[in-house]
Formats: sequence, C-alpha cells, structure tokens
Amino acid sequence: MRALLKSALAGVACCAAGAALAADAGKPLAAPPQRWLMPTLDARAIEARCGVEYARARNRMHAMEKRGEPGAILAEWNRLSSSVQDFIGPVFLLANTATDAATRKVALGCAERFTTLEIEPFQSPKLYARVRGLRPADAIERQYRQDLLDTFEDAGIALKADKRKRVREIREDIEKISLQFQSNVNEDQSVVTIAPEQARGLPQDWINTRKRDAEGRLIVTLDTPTYTSFLDNAIDEHARRDLYVAKMRQGGSANLELLDRVLALRHEMAQLYGYPDFATFSLRRAMAKTPAAVAEFLAKVRGAVDEGETRDLDALHADKASMLGRPVADVTLHRWDVSFHEERVRRSRYQVDQEALRSYFPSEKSVAFTMRLAEMLYGIAFVARDVPRWSSDVRYYDVFERTASAPGAFIGGIYLDLFPRDGKYTHAAAFTLRSVSTLSGRKPASALVANLDRTGLTQEELETLLHEFGHVLHGVLSKTRYVDHGGTNVKRDFVEAPSQMFEEWARREQPLHLFAEICRECPPLSPQMVERLRKARLFGIGILYARQWQYANYDMVLHTGSPPSALQAWIEIERASRLGHVEGTILPASFGHLVGGYAAGYYGYMWSQVLALDMLSGFHGRMLDPVAGRRYRKVILEMGGQRPPQELVETFLGRKPNSDAFFAEISGARD
Ligand SMILES: [Zn+2]
Repeated sequence: MRALLKSALAGVACCAAGAALAADAGKPLAAPPQRWLMPTLDARAIEARCGVEYARARNRMHAMEKRGEPGAILAEWNRLSSSVQDFIGPVFLLANTATDAATRKVALGCAERFTTLEIEPFQSPKLYARVRGLRPADAIERQYRQDLLDTFEDAGIALKADKRKRVREIREDIEKISLQFQSNVNEDQSVVTIAPEQARGLPQDWINTRKRDAEGRLIVTLDTPTYTSFLDNAIDEHARRDLYVAKMRQGGSANLELLDRVLALRHEMAQLYGYPDFATFSLRRAMAKTPAAVAEFLAKVRGAVDEGETRDLDALHADKASMLGRPVADVTLHRWDVSFHEERVRRSRYQVDQEALRSYFPSEKSVAFTMRLAEMLYGIAFVARDVPRWSSDVRYYDVFERTASAPGAFIGGIYLDLFPRDGKYTHAAAFTLRSVSTLSGRKPASALVANLDRTGLTQEELETLLHEFGHVLHGVLSKTRYVDHGGTNVKRDFVEAPSQMFEEWARREQPLHLFAEICRECPPLSPQMVERLRKARLFGIGILYARQWQYANYDMVLHTGSPPSALQAWIEIERASRLGHVEGTILPASFGHLVGGYAAGYYGYMWSQVLALDMLSGFHGRMLDPVAGRRYRKVILEMGGQRPPQELVETFLGRKPNSDAFFAEISGARD
C-alpha cells in the first residue's frame, strides 16, 4: 500500500552497503547542499506552526489569483504544491508514526485543517481561467495543465455556486473522516490474553518476548508480525479464533459509522455532477475508465481463480481432518484455520517452514539486501547518516548516483521506520515527504513505514519490504519537472506496479543468491530450496486471489448505485463464499483503503499487477542486469506521472502490454 493525501497538493505511498561506502571514503562526507531533512516537530511546534503555514499557503494562492494572464502559472502552482508539501508531508507522517500520542493527535488535527487546501484552489475561477488560458509549450506542460484542469473539474468548478459549495463541504468532510478512521485503527489497543500452553506451536523466542498480565497469561497484540505468526503457527484453534475475531474487530463499530457516512457523501457528490454513482465519477480518471471495464476484469479474475481456490481449500480441509484424526465430512474449515493449515501443507509438501525462514532472512540483513539490489539495478548508492529522527528506531540514508570511486550526484533521501510501536500505523506504506521538481532543483524524500518482525522475515515479509521499497524508489528516483508528477503521483491503478514488480526479487534464484554475500553466517539457499519456496508460494494462491477478488468486488459494490450498509454488504459477500462469515467480525472497520484513496480503486492492486508481471519480461530473466535496471529506472521510475502509464510501459516493453503473466500467476501456473 501507499498512503496518500490524494490531491495535486500534498503527496503521501545502518547497513552494509551504504555504511561500507561511507567508510571507504575515509572521512565523513559533507551533507549534500540540496538535502532536505524531516523537521523535528512535536505537538507544541505543530500547534504553533499549523495556522501560520496554513495562512501562508492561502496567501500564496491569493497572490496567484491576482495575476490575470496565464504567465508562469504552472511554475507558480509548483511552488504552491511544494510549500504545502514541505509542511504537511511531515505532519501527515507524524500523525501516523509519532512516538507520543499528543503529537499524533495534534498532527492529525493539523492535517485535517489542511484538507481545505486540497480543494479551495481548485474552486477558484481566477486560477481556473489562468490554467485554461495557458498554451502548453511541450508534452509535459500539456499533461500538467490537463491534470490541473481535471482536478478543477472534480472540485466542481463548472457547477453552480450552491452545488460547488456543497462539493467543498463534502470533500472536506471525507478527508477528515478518512484521517479519523485511520487514527481509530492505529490507536486501537485491543489485545487477546491466552494461557501460556495455548501458544503451543509458536517458537520459544516468540513466547518469551510476549508481555504477561498479572495472572501470568500471555498478552497477544494485534500488530502484523504478532498476529501473523500466531495465526500461522498456534495449534490451539480456540486461541486462533479469538485472535482472528479481535483482529477483525479492529477500528471498532465507530469506524463502520464513519464508513457509511463516507459512502453517502461520495454518492451525493457524484450526483451533484450528474453521475449515477461514485464509481462512474471516479473511474473516468483511472486507466480502467469505466465500472464496466472493472467488472469485466474482475469477472475474468473470478473465473481464473475458481478452480485453484477449490483445490487449495480442499487440501486445507483434508489436512485439518487428518490432523484431528476425523473424517473430512465431520470437520469444518474456518477462516482462522486457513493460514495455519496452509503452513502445515507447505511444510509437509515442500519442506518450507516460514518460521524457520527467519534465520535465512534476518531483518537487518534483509534491509541491506534490499538496498544492495536497488544499488546494483539502478546504479545508486545509499549512505547512512545520523540525522534527527522521530523515533530512535528510524534510520536515514542519503541516496547518490553510484560512480566507480565515491558517491556521485546527490539524488534524495529515504527514511526507514520498520518495526511495530504502540500507536503507529499498523500496515506497511510509503509516505512521500517531498516530491522532486527539476524545475526548482528540489530533491525528493520518502519514508518507508512497516511493521516487520525484529529478528527475521518470512518470505512474505521480505516481499512486503521489497514492495514498499519499490514505492520509495519510485518516489526518490523520479526526475519530474513538477512535484505533482513526482514518483507515486501516477494513476491510481498503476501506482502499485513498480512496487509489485520489485517483490519478484524475493522469489528468484539470482537475487536470493546475492543474499549469501550479504549474510555469510545465514544458512545458504540452495537452488532446490528456491524452487521449493516457489512452489510453496504458489500453494494457496487460489485462496489469496479469491480473497483479493472479494475485496475488490466489495469496494465496487459499495460505490456502484446507491450505497448499501457497508457491514451488511460485506456480510453478504462473505456468506456467499465457501468459508462464510464469522459472526461478530467487522472487517470493514479496519479497511482503510475504502475511506482513503483506493475507493472504487481496490481492483487497482490486481490491475497494476497485470503490468507489474508483464514488465518483468523486460529483464529477460536476468534479474540483476544493470542495463535492464537502468533502462527501467529511466523509462518508468524517472517519469513519474508526467506521461500516461500505458505509454511508459509500452516504451519499456517495446510492445503493447498483455495480461498473460498475470493470469498465469493467479491460476498458479507462472514459472
Ligand atoms: Zn503498495
């Protein structure tokens, strides 16, 4: 995932390699002159500056309104977007990651206040006239002008005054609700306590590091590594069920109300423009264009995964029956059984044990591996720097062009915030702190926020690390003229493609072979083991994509026609599936995509993956080939959103993209 304050204004989605380079240089390197660092902001500082920065941005906007001619409107807009992002980018990150609750709360309030700037400039007839009057000098200017005009149109510039006012209220309400929704999930401190013997199946280390309550029961938290390990490994089915239900209640019923309100507001807004529903309104800006195109795509996905899902669920069902020593007909397979029995089958069929993989992929070495891959493929170098950070857990790197002897030109900066903390964002995402602009010499910075296990990663967690790193690289390696085109500011159903593509480097023999160079003490991965990992990953893929189809379908149901009750619609969709609905669970309450930028856009994960898997063919099986890597960097990453994604992918592949690799993947048949 990536996080994004979705407007054209504000963007959101010390290790071996870098440290070695710094040491080679012999003396500490001076800070690059164009380097930007995250400002140190606590609750008090944000409170003091929020109003000032807000007023400054509005003044800038009013100054832009005073000029009559188109003039340098695009450059002016670029300065406006830059100045807003410089303040609200860090504030939005802190709302999700600050170590103290007071800062998170004040940051959230300030981010809410700034939501008005997502729409106010785009309701200004004077600014609209300036942008419309501009004669673009080249394709990039034409694209930026068109993107701004689309945003004006989406903000209701062509509507009558009363409707335009209502659009503004609705948009501001939605932004505020979205921030509150995510905060409710982040701040949910629910836990499950279990008797120590109920942790049977978990590694001893895992058991030892749990906190205990006064009665000596283990406290199991809902953060991703804890939850995933427990569901994968705990033999006690009741304990698994309790944790599953608690996780599926995260965010609480207050969030269901917020979600219903957002759906009603979106529907009302679409109708103000004369569109039948939000899906029709929103998709006209995406690659897919229409709800019908999404429906056709999802129907093909459904058809392609049916058989695999049935086969995989049958295997899990049989495994559960055999474990319990009972006939299959007497045993029910539940949702909290899925990952547990998947792991059992993967262990017995392919001798792949995800918990054991943690010793193959220690967390710090995995980070070093990820950075080394990026260095090799894209010809860059990371240099660790000791700079102010929002938590002692966070690390920072300067990114340079790689040259033979020393770091070359400065590119940008990245922050990594990798491990769980109380009150922190609960998923994994890349936050754009600062987008590039070649026009103003502005250098980019992004933050990777994740919740990895501290000791070591499973293969899936390694994929997650690479995925988010893919977003971060998209941000940092783009070289667009305007900040609003920087990195992940691309069409929503393309944004996941670079990150999904990078996941493949956690699966292939050549890159995994490199892991041995980075971690000499790690157990080596033989080619046979990489092949077993591949087969183990493909087992369960029918279940995985059937679930992805469910999410995407649910999102479309919510946004097509009049909005239904969000919970009721979800219950109906789950009930229609083989594993059914678990009474008392309210999954939509933590489904942040639905209130954030992925509304009527969740299908985009699979739509992007079509392109991600197709683009792999551009590497011709040579996963570490720097020539292919640099070409990809130049054609796809550097261009950000300043050219249409179809055009970029076609240029990279030298042909029209196709979905063959994607459909092979989801039916478990990809090599
Ligand atoms: Zn993502």
